[in-house]
Amino acid sequence: EKRITGHTELLGLIATPIRHSKSPVMHNAACRALGLDYAYLAFDIQPDQLEDAVKGFKALNVRGWNVSMPYKTTIGQYLDHITPIAKMCGAINTVINDHGVLTGTITDGTGYMTALKDQGIDIIGKKMTIVGAGGAATAIVMQAALDGVKEISIFNIKDASWDRALENVEKINSQTQCKAQLFDLNDHETLRKEINESVIFTNATNVGMGKLEGQMVLPDTSYLRKDLIVSDVIYMPEKTKLLEEAEKIGCKTINGLGMMLYQGAASFKLWTDQDMPIDVVKEVGLTAIYRDIKASDIPNHFLPCILFDEEDRPFILKRKGKECFLHDPVSNSEIKKDGSYLKNFKKAILVFRDPKKEKILDEVKGKEWFWNPVKEFWRSYIEIGFLTLFINIFALAVPLFTMSVYDRVVPNNATET
Ligand code: NAD
Repeated sequence: EKRITGHTELLGLIATPIRHSKSPVMHNAACRALGLDYAYLAFDIQPDQLEDAVKGFKALNVRGWNVSMPYKTTIGQYLDHITPIAKMCGAINTVINDHGVLTGTITDGTGYMTALKDQGIDIIGKKMTIVGAGGAATAIVMQAALDGVKEISIFNIKDASWDRALENVEKINSQTQCKAQLFDLNDHETLRKEINESVIFTNATNVGMGKLEGQMVLPDTSYLRKDLIVSDVIYMPEKTKLLEEAEKIGCKTINGLGMMLYQGAASFKLWTDQDMPIDVVKEVGLTAIYRDIKASDIPNHFLPCILFDEEDRPFILKRKGKECFLHDPVSNSEIKKDGSYLKNFKKAILVFRDPKKEKILDEVKGKEWFWNPVKEFWRSYIEIGFLTLFINIFALAVPLFTMSVYDRVVPNNATET
């Protein structure tokens, strides 16, 4: 990294697992664009190292860091101050280090509210219905209540989050002007009524991603109407089933990408006192998110290949048996990658059996990245075809040439002695 000097200060992120995080790409792109002398690194910290990590960051005068799972609810005990919003949420995603004084806060809720504003959506003084009471939902409802949303109807299944949902409702009603109520997600009649009275419906659960991809929290689409805003905290997939269905009905929809982006921007502002250049960050960091090629979708004849991430670090993607692995030559470690999207890589190099015959396939340009396997497959075949043709011509030409030379040197009527 050319811009790192003796003056460069450190920002970071602690969590485990961490390597999938887009935050380093976002924050480093922002620092580069603004010419700020910071570097943002991701630290994979194990639970028994959390306290040491915080002390170490303090000793090293790290300016600030993000906190992700599983430390959002436990890091507070090692900090000097916790902001009111972080106390309300019972979680911290940002630590600011002011000359050794550590303050913990949470920017997820601000991220969500700013993302709505960014889309021209104003819910202040209005009613919202939200499903979920986990980390994301709690940050959203607390911030929404503090920002002036008039009423929030929270729905949840009766699982481990139910008690947190009860606490959230109690805190909102006692500490803000907003009126909050909790309902069982299985109470469909009330769900319909509350959505009908709301300007926005938000999914803040895992339903729609991972194992629950293709599912939605609503029993069916009859709960939606054209003038309802439908938002989802999920951004991978880009459009959950809920957003797809809502779009068909004509609703304005918004996925979780804006929330992710603006929570980062809010942390960035707290550390650097500068506005994150959102357009730059979107361009550099986030177009990578939707490069929707999965490791398992890459045909065998393209593997192994070398992938370069945004920081130009090489990784080798290879297949062993039916499974795909990403090999990190620096740490000499391997991560299984089968269903994973190869989204944070900006270019790929195919390695043919002859290592000199490397071929740079594609510089990434937004969504047009990755290579087109079918095109590449045929291109390889055409190349092989031409090569075979040349070999054949050569094979034919050599004997013809030899024969003609022989004819000239040894004429037909020459007498051998
Ligand atoms: P969590 O585990 O803290 O909470 C999960 C919530 O989903 C709970 O309320 C739980 O009751 C509910 N839930 C789980 N399975 C359900 C089901 N089958 N039906 C109905 N409800 C169900 O998780 P979290 O940290 O709050 O994350 C929730 C989602 O938000 C995840 O998809 C995560 O990726 C996303 N998220 C997005 C952002 C962002 O910036 N866009 C930030 C944080 C989390």
